[in-house]
Amino acid sequence: MNNKKISIIGFSADENSSFLKGCSKAPPIIMEAFHSDATNKFSENGIDLGIKNLWTYQSFPNIPSSKQGFQLIRDTIKKELNKGNRCISIGGDHSITYPIIDAYNHYLQNINILHFDAHPDLYDNFENNPYSHASPFARILDNNLSKKLIQIGIRTMNNHQQEQANKYNVQVIDMNNFRSDIKLEFNGPVYITLDLDGLDPAFAPGVSHPEPGGLSTRDILNIIYKIKEKIIGADIVEYNPKKDLNNITAITAAKFLKELLGKMLK
Ligand code: MN
Ligand code: MN
Repeated sequence: MNNKKISIIGFSADENSSFLKGCSKAPPIIMEAFHSDATNKFSENGIDLGIKNLWTYQSFPNIPSSKQGFQLIRDTIKKELNKGNRCISIGGDHSITYPIIDAYNHYLQNINILHFDAHPDLYDNFENNPYSHASPFARILDNNLSKKLIQIGIRTMNNHQQEQANKYNVQVIDMNNFRSDIKLEFNGPVYITLDLDGLDPAFAPGVSHPEPGGLSTRDILNIIYKIKEKIIGADIVEYNPKKDLNNITAITAAKFLKELLGKMLK
């Protein structure tokens, strides 16, 4: 895995969403915001993302909830990692993170995951779907695909998921205990998974499960920019355009894409 190129991949998937569909429409709208003339292509750390060959974009429409859907995601990520590229996936619902991390495990061990979300997504089996967007981290930890999982922004913990968090030794930093100058410790390369509902709905109304009392855009950017370990990949998930107001969530998702690219390419 070199440091040269990032592969941005749009995964249009929402069949594993439990409550509302709509996330499958997200990738082209995020890319449109990314390319908008309302802003320029410099990340805050000074990388000009308008320069050719720093990143590529490809997208996959209509990913089914079947095994074949996950296999497509796995194969796509593996192909990019095999070329030495790192991946930033834009979703899609949060179910896509399990096949993505599975693919990374063919190239790397001791992956640390930094997870921003209102929800722990640790259900063993949510509404009879073990591959639901409420379960990706249960599958990842069941299969021993991550050495360390740190969750930030959590504000919906219930008994079952607390048991799961204890069982898998998840480090949960719930909103109640969150401070913006928090120091995180990793013991390996870091993968960032960003569920946009980790943000307060004031910053990102366009999600299927808005949960008040969340993180600010700047809270998340500060944490990302402070990471010292190598960032091997990321995803930005759960943007639901049907629920957005004035495109603000798309613009916020595009901002995170820009800053993740800047951070990973520096
Ligand atoms: Mn999630
Ligand atoms: Mn969530």
